[in-house]
Amino acid sequence: MIEIFIDNEKCTGCGECIRVCPKGPRIYRIVEKNGRKVAEVVDKSFCIGCTTCVTACKPGAIRLERGW
Ligand code: SF4
Ligand code: SF4
Repeated sequence: MIEIFIDNEKCTGCGECIRVCPKGPRIYRIVEKNGRKVAEVVDKSFCIGCTTCVTACKPGAIRLERGW
């Protein structure tokens, strides 16, 4: 299982992670927290560990950890 961490301080809510991820909205959604739009993980179990989202996230807000 892969853990996906989003740094709420760095995330701008741009939605690029949803656009580039092969599983898109199955994994990510944009929510509002404290008046700011940020990405949130819906279901990490769909993640195939391709790291596309990490590369695409300009502020570097996404971190993956492999649990194996
Ligand atoms: S690509 Fe990065 S900054 Fe943009 S919504 Fe996703 S986690 Fe946030
Ligand atoms: S590593 Fe790949 S499959 Fe997993 S969330 Fe990022 S883009 Fe999606």
